[in-house]
Amino acid sequence: MQVARLAHETDFDGWRRAARELRAAGTPPEAVIWTIDGAGGLFAAASEDPLKVSRKTAAAFSVPKTFVDLAGKVILHRSDERFSLLYRLLWRLQGEPNLIHIASDPDVARAHDLERGVSRAAHKMKAFVRFRLAQDEDGEAYVAWFEPAHRVTEATAPFFARRFTNMRFSILTPDVCAHWDTRALAFTPGADPADAPREDALEEYWRTYYASIFNPARLKTAAMQREMPKMYWRNLPEAALIPELIAKAEGRTDAMVRQAPTVPSARAVKAALRNSRDAPYDGLAPTSLEDVAAGVDHCRRCPLWRDATQGVAGEGPARAKLMFVGEQPGDQEDLAGRPFVGPAGQVFDRALSEAGVPRAETYVTNAVKHFKHEKRGKRRIHQTPTSGEVTACRWWLDGERRLVRPRVIVMLGATAALSVMGKPTPIARNRGQALQLADQAQGVVTYHPSFLLRVPDEAAKQAGYAAFVEDLKLAWTLAA
Ligand code: SF4
Repeated sequence: MQVARLAHETDFDGWRRAARELRAAGTPPEAVIWTIDGAGGLFAAASEDPLKVSRKTAAAFSVPKTFVDLAGKVILHRSDERFSLLYRLLWRLQGEPNLIHIASDPDVARAHDLERGVSRAAHKMKAFVRFRLAQDEDGEAYVAWFEPAHRVTEATAPFFARRFTNMRFSILTPDVCAHWDTRALAFTPGADPADAPREDALEEYWRTYYASIFNPARLKTAAMQREMPKMYWRNLPEAALIPELIAKAEGRTDAMVRQAPTVPSARAVKAALRNSRDAPYDGLAPTSLEDVAAGVDHCRRCPLWRDATQGVAGEGPARAKLMFVGEQPGDQEDLAGRPFVGPAGQVFDRALSEAGVPRAETYVTNAVKHFKHEKRGKRRIHQTPTSGEVTACRWWLDGERRLVRPRVIVMLGATAALSVMGKPTPIARNRGQALQLADQAQGVVTYHPSFLLRVPDEAAKQAGYAAFVEDLKLAWTLAA
């Protein structure tokens, strides 16, 4: 058994070095124990005959950048399994070079789960850090105490430096503290909550602001706690108001209902209708993919949310050159909260692999974000969304297109083509060529993988699949 020692919890360079040497030495994942040891060398003498690996041998292979990027995020997760999971993936990449693009593989899926946890933690940190005014020898400075769900402080600190460029601040966390002096970021070891100021004049502003935007008629306690988990409340000045506002919500709503109705003007009705079509997500277009994910989950623009487990937004890099649009989440996607992970996702992954398209470098989404189905006994049978539902959900797809700005959009099936092109576009007649889209991107229409699964005739199925792979190659070439 070999013990690999890392210098600290987020020692990515140390992990890379150790993993490279272990792999070059032929040490299988099950023979490695990963541990954190701030002192000492890279490897412990766990065996009587420790491995000796030359740096030259260790450097003789490379891995896809996608894997390195994924590993850089996964390592920030608090899970103890992260080092061994990443080494197992690295090990398997020797014999399975496309492994990282097979989203249905359990190791790849687990790594993406951890990556999503880290992204969520970074998102919550950006939303819930609250600075308090303090004084030091150089004058005024702002200090915040925060306990991130994962070790995202160093990765997230540049966001605050960009946002508060002219403000000296420190963000104290139990893992590490970030300090910005208006010129450079610096990091010091973790701190204690007692090191942060508890209350200042800004608290009252936060509470007044929060009380003024709180709408009792829209209170959904479960959704609120999901978006603002209780673990963050103790740092939020406005959190002190939450129990009281919730307790009074029912009475305030009754009072609103009892108020004499007023007749809105025709103009106001028109504006409300326009807003309800175009801006149901707090009246604002999404400005980030995180906004899209949160908005989709709470969206009520059409009735499909009622029977679905959750809204399923797209996933992939925020600047992907290639975007895939499917129809809607299926049964397994609805449960997993991720697009294309069920049987159609497996066909999709296989075809991408044969076409040489790395899924992790593409953005994958659907025209409709909630699973439309009917129940037959215990089974949930897929139903095609209506054009009204596709139109309602285009708000979110348009948001994703605007944010990602892909060079090429591949429309998987007729529903995707209807949503992206804005008109019915027969697949067989239009596939195999580049189509010009209104936003300057190019479009490629092709079959939906679930259609290929349903073709009864084996020869027709194989021909359809071959055409599908060709369309994916075309799209990748156009995007490049
Ligand atoms: S399917 Fe789309 S429009 Fe309908 S509720 Fe879900 S996210 Fe909103």
